[in-house]
Parts: sequence; structure tokens; C-alpha cells
Amino acid sequence: MPKPSPNQLSPRSPLVLDTRELPRRPGALRTVKRVVSAPADLGLELIGVPEGAELSLDLRLESVSEGVLVSGTVAGPVEGECGRCLRPISDSLVVRIQELYAYENSTTDETADEDEVGRMQGDLIDLEPALRDAVVLALPTNPLCRDDCPGLCSECGVHWDELPADHSHQQIDPRWAGLSQLTRQEE
Ligand SMILES: [Zn+2]
Ligand SMILES: [Zn+2]
Repeated sequence: MPKPSPNQLSPRSPLVLDTRELPRRPGALRTVKRVVSAPADLGLELIGVPEGAELSLDLRLESVSEGVLVSGTVAGPVEGECGRCLRPISDSLVVRIQELYAYENSTTDETADEDEVGRMQGDLIDLEPALRDAVVLALPTNPLCRDDCPGLCSECGVHWDELPADHSHQQIDPRWAGLSQLTRQEE
């Protein structure tokens, strides 16, 4: 069997949509519901979908005059760590996808800019780039374990939740120590 070139899509690849059964007649519809494993590096540095996690695809493929419009949702778990206190974060995410994929050699394929629309490879659509974009956009660049996470004390690295309210590392300048004692005596 000839080795597929790196850019060659495989219809068996989980994030490749096969449109063979979708008539190339505007308005024709097909739905795709499947659970796939998440590819590597789906997300940002601090937070993302773990590799191999279950992604639920719920998509609608619609024939339009020059290609296929893919729309729907992809849902999956998210794991990461809090940008303030490094505690682990477990969450889930649902992203909306809406992307037009032009037929090969259609006017849209030949005239639209590279990043303006997706391109089909024969009957195949590679959903991965659109999915990556949608996931990255949906994730916080500075994830937090909770909105009001106070973070860690910059001096001792202990979480502020575990420290008394008056916790401080204030060092009194020895030249002022005498003065503060004076003040105390006056009180
Ligand atoms: Zn936190
Ligand atoms: Zn401290």
C-alpha cells in the first residue's frame, strides 16, 4: 500500500469528515454524531483538553453551492492549573464550530484567501484546524481555580486561603524599631 503523504487526509482519522454520502446539491444535509479521542496539544499552555480524552462531536453538514458548511458543537473535558495558585482545574467545555469548506477547484477554492475558508480534499474535510481555533478561543489565557482566587503569598508561597487575614512578612527597619516601641508606649 502506498504511504499517504503527510497532508493526505485519511477517512479513518477521527477528526476527518467524509462527505461521500452527502449529495452535492445545495440544501442537502447530513448529521455527524460521534465520540473521538482528543488529539495532542489541544489547548493552551496552562489549560487544555487532555490528549485521548473523549470529545463529543455533534455536527451538521450542509451542501452549499461551492462546498460544505459544517456547523455544530464539540464538547469535552478540560484540565489545567490555576494561573495564580497552580491548583489543578477540571472543567468541561462546549465550543461552537461553523466553517465553510470549499470543493476542490470550485471558484471559492480558487479565489478565496488561504485562511478565509477551509478546503476539502476530495470528499474529505479536516475538522482539526477549526476545532483547534475554536478550543483555543474558548479557553481562558489566564485560567483560575475560582474567580476570586487570591493566589499565593509572594514571600512564603502559601495559599492566601490557608493564611490568617493579618499574615505579613513586614520587616521593621531597625532604625525605626525604637520609634514604633515609643508609639506603643504612648498608647
Ligand atoms: Zn487558584
Ligand atoms: Zn507569606
